[in-house]
Amino acid sequence: MYYNEEIETMSREELHRLQSERLVRIVKYTYDNVEFYRKRMDEHHVAPSDIKSVDDISKLPFMTKQDLRDYYPYGTFAAPAESIVRFHASSGTTGKPIVAGYTQNDLDCWSEGVARCLTAYGLSHKDIIQVSYGYGLFTGGLGAHDGAHRIGAATLPTSSGNTSKQIMLMKDLGSTALCCTPSYALFLAESLENDPDTDISRDIKLKVGVFGAEPWTENMRKELESKLRIKAYDIYGLTEVSGPGVGGECECQDGTHLWEDMFYPEIIDPVSLQPVPHGNRGELVFTTLLKEGMPVIRYRTRDLTYLDYSRCKCGRTMVRMGKILGRSDDMLIVRGVNVFPSTVESVIMEFPEFNGQYFITVDRVNSTDTFDVDVELRPELYNGNMSGILKLKDALTWRMVSVLGIKPAVHIAEPGSIERSMGKAKHVMDKRKF
Ligand code: ADP
Ligand code: ZN
Repeated sequence: MYYNEEIETMSREELHRLQSERLVRIVKYTYDNVEFYRKRMDEHHVAPSDIKSVDDISKLPFMTKQDLRDYYPYGTFAAPAESIVRFHASSGTTGKPIVAGYTQNDLDCWSEGVARCLTAYGLSHKDIIQVSYGYGLFTGGLGAHDGAHRIGAATLPTSSGNTSKQIMLMKDLGSTALCCTPSYALFLAESLENDPDTDISRDIKLKVGVFGAEPWTENMRKELESKLRIKAYDIYGLTEVSGPGVGGECECQDGTHLWEDMFYPEIIDPVSLQPVPHGNRGELVFTTLLKEGMPVIRYRTRDLTYLDYSRCKCGRTMVRMGKILGRSDDMLIVRGVNVFPSTVESVIMEFPEFNGQYFITVDRVNSTDTFDVDVELRPELYNGNMSGILKLKDALTWRMVSVLGIKPAVHIAEPGSIERSMGKAKHVMDKRKF
């Protein structure tokens, strides 16, 4: 099922024409209305008239998170103040938050993006969508909420936290879909398992999980699908570009379709800033083709992924993005080796004995980096069988060595001892930074 079949399945030639027309317009609009863009383009000796199609996009300068901070709060707004109808702010995972302003058209485009995702997950007006992303400045809650209404579904706007109430309402009202971060979904699943009054297959009606806002792996998908007896789909987005629903998976679960008619993606080498060959991993860059409030042109997301332009079996022609490895600033350099937390997660989740909760601590002791990984066992396996636990610890250590190229100190933690997250999980503490 498509939400907007005409757009989602349009030919690549037609899409190219539409994107080009929209790019020409947005470049002129930002040049005319925002001093930041005018100055940047003048400095790069590029004029709006030089941009005739998306093939010219590389003539335009990049924009970074720092630019948004430097021009905080209104400096990159393009629409008049009176047409802004809502503000949001990024969660500030990596510093001062980014504030974004939306016109009504921006909100409509955003909810259309989410509606396309929800429809691709098989949801419709018949569903009850429990939105356990935080409501408020964070784009997750209201973004999912508006998209759910756009398809006529009922929302259960629980926001994040208060897990026992979430579970009660999920059971009593019969939520059929759950929107939250994958780490909160894992916590909810555990809580359901531990609830003596709940039998998941009998009492829980969930069929779909709509998970995003942080990196999660294929192995985590399997875990969540089996624990909650659902199909778990990825949804991607960021405040600077709009919010969740910049793209989402389809029923094939084989890549995240990006809604390219609204958001033009590029992948660049974060060092040389040159485009990478198709299919190679690099930094994702977006240009918003329709945004009025706070458009971005060639915005460097710092998210590392790759794009696949081959045709998807679902019939959608929009490009598919691979799972996000992490942000460039999530990458740890430990004893000279690059380590992404998502790779650590993926290795841990290869072992059915672990419950998906983990925490990485990096430090420097006597001029040498230390790399500790705490990982929880499933409660039913946490018993007095010391030799079994030691064997497992060894197996995980050596699997990490072979995948990461570095030996961690693995600690088997007591179930429940690693702090759970209600929103975006914090999996890493790098003490070298303090
Ligand atoms: P912040 O940058 O403060 O976390 P946002 O709340 O806007 O602000 O989060 C957007 C970021 O969250 C993205 O740039 C990306 O790093 C991450 N993200 C969002 N959705 C996903 C997803 N499905 N998979 C991986 N990472 C995601
Ligand atoms: Zn598809």
